[in-house]
Amino acid sequence: MFKTRLLGVPYSREFRWDKCYKGKDYRGKDSEAKVYGVKVMTELEKTKMPSQRSLGDTAGDAEGSVLGRAESSIRTSINTSEELMGLVLRIERTSIHDGQGLRTVIFLKGCPLRCQWCSTPESQRHEPERGYVTDRCNGCGTCVNICQQGALAIAKQEGKVIINSSKCRVCFVCAEKCPQNAIKKYGRLMSATETVREISKDEIFFFYSGGGVTISGGEPLAQSEFVSEILRRCRGQGIHTAMESSLYAPFESVLKVLPWLNVLYVDLKHMNEELHKQWAGRDNSLILANLRNVDDSDTPLDIIVRIPLISGVNDSDANLMAAAEFCQSLRKLQEIELLPYHRLGLETYRNLQRDYPLKDLLPPVGERILERAGFLARQNPKVPVRVGGELVN
Ligand code: SF4
Ligand code: SF4
Repeated sequence: MFKTRLLGVPYSREFRWDKCYKGKDYRGKDSEAKVYGVKVMTELEKTKMPSQRSLGDTAGDAEGSVLGRAESSIRTSINTSEELMGLVLRIERTSIHDGQGLRTVIFLKGCPLRCQWCSTPESQRHEPERGYVTDRCNGCGTCVNICQQGALAIAKQEGKVIINSSKCRVCFVCAEKCPQNAIKKYGRLMSATETVREISKDEIFFFYSGGGVTISGGEPLAQSEFVSEILRRCRGQGIHTAMESSLYAPFESVLKVLPWLNVLYVDLKHMNEELHKQWAGRDNSLILANLRNVDDSDTPLDIIVRIPLISGVNDSDANLMAAAEFCQSLRKLQEIELLPYHRLGLETYRNLQRDYPLKDLLPPVGERILERAGFLARQNPKVPVRVGGELVN
């Protein structure tokens, strides 16, 4: 059968029910799946919808108010609608890299960090952006004629469009009309209802593969109310939920999404506070505190820590030992995953006409990746370490 060939897992209605509502609590003790499911449904009924809360309900502390700015700017710009809206970068279906089974991944736009190795620069800014793929342009001139700002022209020699960014008002009219899809629009507003409808289209795949929805970014917690609403509705439909986050957000934002999460993926980019700031733009104190608080919370969910492996940045013995030591104390931790650096974002930097800080850095070779994964696994043999989808220990 399809599911058996693809994933090699058996299933039944009981099995799926169990998966949806996690038939174990965070301490790993088995519990009555159905009883737990009933408990969750009771919580669902009792909990007030985030969209019903005051829209001025932002983080209180100084750090929070800085972090809350992006989220509130999205809220205020879209608050003419009664629907909760979010800025979505793209939706990817049937992913096998972002959680168990086949996943529908909702990539949101906007992130407070600026990791120098970021492979999705189009996800960083908290607003829609224009990109331009030079190779696709055939110089037809449609966009030049349509642009009201006179921001476009055809370069005589190359026969391709050149964009005067100082004149461009980022209206995206050219992107809509370009027959070659050479001008791209990164990011669009979607309502929670529309987003959940898109997710629901893949329910059959979730059912057969044990998959579900994964919210990724950018930083999902920069739009925590939107994410909370999507996850709440998905859980109500019995869809398994996961989120990939840096946890760089006020804990109030984390608390909004926590009740609706089955699995939380957290990046530990660097354990040294100063070096984290140097390479990611912000220090790691808030991230580590949030991760500790999530682990201490009563919310039953699994934590998977991800470490991007960047040569000369965070692949030292000292950093991996510090990461392993921190992880050792996390009760909800299921495994650590190493994500070797790659250069797949290079073209997107070009499309955005943005400089890529690590353009000369080469990805680590296979032997080095396995050696580092083995080293990490030896620090705490009880915690599974995974790299490239394979368990190391
Ligand atoms: S409409 Fe598209 S293909 Fe035509 S000139 Fe403009 S960017 Fe190039
Ligand atoms: S986004 Fe709008 S203003 Fe900018 S180049 Fe295209 S049509 Fe002109």
